[in-house]
Amino acid sequence: MNFPPLQSWIPGSQHPLVIAGPCSAESEVQVLQTAQALAKLPWVKVFRAGIWKPRTRPGLFEGVGTAGLVWMSRVKEETGLLTTVEVARPDHVQEAINHNIDILWIGARTVVNPFSMQELAESLAGVNIPVMVKNPVNPDLKLWMGAIERLHKNGITRIAAIHRGFYQSEKTQYRNAPLWEIPIELMRQMPGLPVLCDPSHISGNRSLIQQVSQQAMDLEMDGLMVETHPDPDKAWTDSVQQITPETLGEIMNHLILREQKGNREFERNLEELRHEVDLIDYEMIRLLAKRMNIAEEMGRYKYAHNITILQLQRWKELFADRIKKGNKAGLDNRFLAALLQLVHEQSIQIQTNVMSRGEEQ
Ligand code: PEP
Ligand code: MN
Repeated sequence: MNFPPLQSWIPGSQHPLVIAGPCSAESEVQVLQTAQALAKLPWVKVFRAGIWKPRTRPGLFEGVGTAGLVWMSRVKEETGLLTTVEVARPDHVQEAINHNIDILWIGARTVVNPFSMQELAESLAGVNIPVMVKNPVNPDLKLWMGAIERLHKNGITRIAAIHRGFYQSEKTQYRNAPLWEIPIELMRQMPGLPVLCDPSHISGNRSLIQQVSQQAMDLEMDGLMVETHPDPDKAWTDSVQQITPETLGEIMNHLILREQKGNREFERNLEELRHEVDLIDYEMIRLLAKRMNIAEEMGRYKYAHNITILQLQRWKELFADRIKKGNKAGLDNRFLAALLQLVHEQSIQIQTNVMSRGEEQ
């Protein structure tokens, strides 16, 4: 799959591209006032606003609808910013196109549903408009990629992904856990696909936006989508995470944009470190294979002596001992526990296989 670079469909965009605007369009004054302040920030090239809002429960504010699209065209006329809105149904697509919206985006609650995605993708066949695809609510990379593929198959090639974090039942400081490894894997599997980060929906709280944005830049993401409102505390939706256009300007000024490539000396040193990492990984693989061979041997031995596979007391002691040693060596507890658990599961699996094949030593 080929993806044209962002610069080819967002004229004048520099790194990082910033898309900003309110979670929801509320009134013509609010929309225009936000857009005018944002247009003064050099990074902002696209104005966003939610026109149809996906709400968890009915009866809450569900967006201003078509009236908001008229305000968006005024934004375009008066500020020169491109405009983008969220679409979830083919009739949204049609309305947005009728009102000359420049870019569409598909929200996290729509991307989870392959039927909705297919229907949207088909409604876009033959329509020449860029589309941004948020990650699905749940941490499922294939679903995210599937949504992108459905669009691509229907002739939409100007696509960007937006990382907005994932629902997790475990409570953390984030509204949606970033699980950075998922967008990183997306970048690896779909090279050339522009990936933006939405620090607002990851954070759920304005105090985290700077830090999440910095992390996105350090991971070489192409830009940010940030919710901005002239009076965030009074916003009708997502008020805790919205920031003023002025705060967005400050955040951008404080971002450290590191070079993707350093000078030759830096590259050489980095190469040496990478080489060391390679050797350590190979050694780890060799040792893991050796450990699993011993597990197999133990399986055969236990089978021959009619002994159960899982020896709970031994596992408890082994686990506590390794955690203690790992702690001393400065390893993170949660990391080490997960690793030990994986290795243990695999070795139980190997022994189970031996038992079910009925092999004796
Ligand atoms: C939004 O951008 O306002 C929105 C509803 O986002 P998401 O689909 O990421 O929840
Ligand atoms: Mn929002």
